[in-house]
Amino acid sequence: MCSEHANSGSTGMESFSNGAYNNFIGGEWVEGCNYIENINPSNTNDVIGVYSQASRDQVHDACKSAEAEFSVWSRQTAQYRANILDEIGQRILEKKEELGTLLAREEGKPIREAIGEAERAGHIFKFFAGEAIRLGGEVMSSLRTGISVGADRVPIGPVGIITPWNFPIAIPAWKIAPSLAYGCTVVFKPANLVPACAHALTEIFSKCGLNNGEFNLVMGNGSTVGETITSAREISGVSFTGSTDVGKSVSSSCVAHGARFQLEMGGKNPIVVLDDANIERAAEAAIIGAFFQTGQRCTASSRMIVTDGIHDKFIGVVKSKLDDLRIDSALLHDTDIGPAVDSRQYQQDLSYIEVGLSEAKLAWGGKCLERATPDFYIEPALFVETSNEMKINQEEVFGPIASVIRVSNYEEALHVANDTPYGLASSIFTENAKIMNDFRRRSEVGMVMCNLPTAGLDYHAPFGGVKASSYGAREQGTYAREFYTTVKTWYSYD
Ligand code: NAP
Repeated sequence: MCSEHANSGSTGMESFSNGAYNNFIGGEWVEGCNYIENINPSNTNDVIGVYSQASRDQVHDACKSAEAEFSVWSRQTAQYRANILDEIGQRILEKKEELGTLLAREEGKPIREAIGEAERAGHIFKFFAGEAIRLGGEVMSSLRTGISVGADRVPIGPVGIITPWNFPIAIPAWKIAPSLAYGCTVVFKPANLVPACAHALTEIFSKCGLNNGEFNLVMGNGSTVGETITSAREISGVSFTGSTDVGKSVSSSCVAHGARFQLEMGGKNPIVVLDDANIERAAEAAIIGAFFQTGQRCTASSRMIVTDGIHDKFIGVVKSKLDDLRIDSALLHDTDIGPAVDSRQYQQDLSYIEVGLSEAKLAWGGKCLERATPDFYIEPALFVETSNEMKINQEEVFGPIASVIRVSNYEEALHVANDTPYGLASSIFTENAKIMNDFRRRSEVGMVMCNLPTAGLDYHAPFGGVKASSYGAREQGTYAREFYTTVKTWYSYD
């Protein structure tokens, strides 16, 4: 069945779904080796489509195609690249409802958030259309008569982009847009669970003129397709987002052939609530941070660290707000929390609830919700009387499970917040500006929030963490150029 470079039909912009999703290599739609069904987690009877997995040879073809086209794409004028990116952004914005619906159906993300994600992706492409033009170098003062010296920013070459399933439109956008803006060509491997979103984006790219190998889509397992990209000698850099364990293997693979890499990985993010906090805002932020998107966010605040004086009241307010949430199909406009993404994640959530029950006290939720079909709905679980050493407070669950850790004062809260291998995002709720500033300085994370949830980030601001959460250059905004470009120093005798 593996017919290399057979040109098979794409789904067409009209539907974005219910079709066969093929790979896109060297500007052609290419049928892979096996087709796999893609299921809607809000209704497991709903098959979204089938998608074909690229063979290792096809991944090599994609890498070669990105390498061959690099010399053309990187030499196009900045205006040419900017126009294409701008058009992509415009089309995504025009199609945001359709894309958002597809995303809600494919991942189980509530449709309001899903449409918001598509909109964000549109803005990201438009932002990087501007960045393509703004990219500049530096002319330096010369130390020698008649000799000029400067430093140019140049694209690093073909890049591999490997993404997770939990933001299947926004994360690819914030990697693909800067790659193309700065003159890199792309081999993109989306997560296996979200091929339809990747395919829909690729159709937009193709319609906007990326049909020569500047951009390639290869779908399939991380252990085959992903690993082939990271070890391909044509690939100069890999931008990866996913779990910390896989990130480590991506890094070894890149090191082996001298490719640069950027890793965005897991989190175990704290939200600190002090006695003087606005309790309503803190409880709302804790719920948004811990449970929205079914807790399937790297920035999820799964540890609520609360001081003695407000502890019991805070738990009471959180519980009463949880009572008001609607846990239902992602396609309903008033759903707050959708299902887990698939049965594997669902089972993992249930097993962490078992762990929580053996370690601590369950204050709210934690039950499976019975529906007509065997879907993956689960109530958020809030554990109390926990300590930071417990397994539920040390490991990333990636589900709607959070716990409250009681502390005596701010210094203890800060210590507990930092006592984790991860360092992505943190948040503090207090009215005390001095403490807020202290937390901004001493919280061991890449992104710190004051009186805000850990989720909810601007697309033009740098994104990334420290410790086991991230490695390498920051993503998003102008900081993205640090990864996709390198500095070439030049001297000239006039
Ligand atoms: P994952 O299992 O690590 O997978 C991430 C991507 O890597 C997928 O496309 C996966 O392919 C691929 N992959 C797997 N093994 C590979 C290998 N040996 N070589 C190359 N690629 C390989 O993560 P996930 O379950 O999709 O996403 C959840 C994780 O992502 C969580 O840990 C979360 O914290 C993290 N995340 C981090 C951020 C951030 O910015 N810090 C943002 C979002 C998510 P397949 O799965 O298709 O096989």
